[in-house]
Amino acid sequence: MRSFVEAAKRLGVDVTIGSDRCHQLDDPWSDGAVPLHFEQPEQAAQRLAEAVRTTPVRAILALGDRQTVTAAYAARILGLRYNSPESVENCRSKLRQREVLRDAGLPVPEFFSFPLTEPLDAVLLRVSFPSVLKPLRLAASQGVIRANDAPEFATAVERIRHLLNSPEVQATREPELDRLLVERYIPGAEVALEGLLEQGTLRVLALFDKPDPLEGPYFEESIYVTPSRLPAEMQTRIFDCAAQAVRALGLYRGPLHAEFRVNGDGPWVLEVAPRPIGGLCSRALRFGPDRILLEELLVSHAMGLAEVEVPRESLAAGVMMIPVPRSGVFKGAEGVERAAATPGVDEVQITARLHDFIAAWPEGSTYLGFIFARGATPAEVEAALRLAHSALRFEITPRLRVAHPTSGQTSAGS
Ligand code: ADP
Repeated sequence: MRSFVEAAKRLGVDVTIGSDRCHQLDDPWSDGAVPLHFEQPEQAAQRLAEAVRTTPVRAILALGDRQTVTAAYAARILGLRYNSPESVENCRSKLRQREVLRDAGLPVPEFFSFPLTEPLDAVLLRVSFPSVLKPLRLAASQGVIRANDAPEFATAVERIRHLLNSPEVQATREPELDRLLVERYIPGAEVALEGLLEQGTLRVLALFDKPDPLEGPYFEESIYVTPSRLPAEMQTRIFDCAAQAVRALGLYRGPLHAEFRVNGDGPWVLEVAPRPIGGLCSRALRFGPDRILLEELLVSHAMGLAEVEVPRESLAAGVMMIPVPRSGVFKGAEGVERAAATPGVDEVQITARLHDFIAAWPEGSTYLGFIFARGATPAEVEAALRLAHSALRFEITPRLRVAHPTSGQTSAGS
């Protein structure tokens, strides 16, 4: 978010932030953020609209999945051009998105959903293996598990149930935390598309390959590299598929992030979201002669400011989301300078906070950090990212189980 505020500042645009970070303190981050509950989007939108009553607002941008619905309702109240609440709701629930895309004839994996109260025997009658289980409203592959047979399926259900019942997930107060989606596993290469919508028309900003195989059982991301090395014809099919998905969902304006699997049957839609790429990954993307960052492009576009039809730079670029090798308490990283000095590497950012507990996938959803690289070819960029990563060492210690002094029961402490 900070990078968007900085981009807006560079453009001379004033920003009002709506955030769910903290409701106890008045202005904990001294950025004047309006405290919002994104799980109640209509009320949050009303509150945001009231907060900007005396300020003329020209544009709205949602920077994460949870924020998109509030942004859409707020845009409606404020009379701003943005995605409708209905179109954004079509994307928020993974189940609803599958239904809309399937009904529009788009290639999506076969799927069904079931309530966690349903007896497993009954559920298993409907599963074809290999399958992928996922919660309906989490992100970043959190709780997404592949199961190849009935025992793996049963284990996965219990693991996701446990995750959904955890205080961290319950605190989101998201609806539909009591059901799971089951899909057929789609083999193939995976790509991510970054795009921009104007009046429902998609402009592709970048197509990223994900060169590490994502075959499960968990689906932590790692390397993204653009431009894609897929044949041009397949890339065109992906762009067409994305444009059709946008139309089916009814999305209209602003950033778009979409993920596809590609195999002999062509592209399969895994996910479409009306928001920019997450984490710090956007730093991999620069545009036009001034090499403006994605954030600046998106703010300019939202504000209708300048010519934003600038192409991505000609260099290949990539980012590695640094995987979490095991859950534990993060005690430090070594080799950061050496990794950053790798030829082709622009930057290494360790974002995990010292002494914080960090969870590996499928429970996890945040990375240890990010490595960024640029080069003449995608292969060069990928090699630079791998080399830089091999220079890093992370100390992650097990979370201690401490005996409770009075009850004698054990509890997790960090
Ligand atoms: P999230 O929104 O949490 O990232 P996704 O539904 O996009 O969840 O799934 C996360 C990842 O899991 C995908 O990027 C992909 O690698 C893998 N995945 C999800 N569904 C399937 C599927 N049906 N077949 C193969 N892989 C899948």
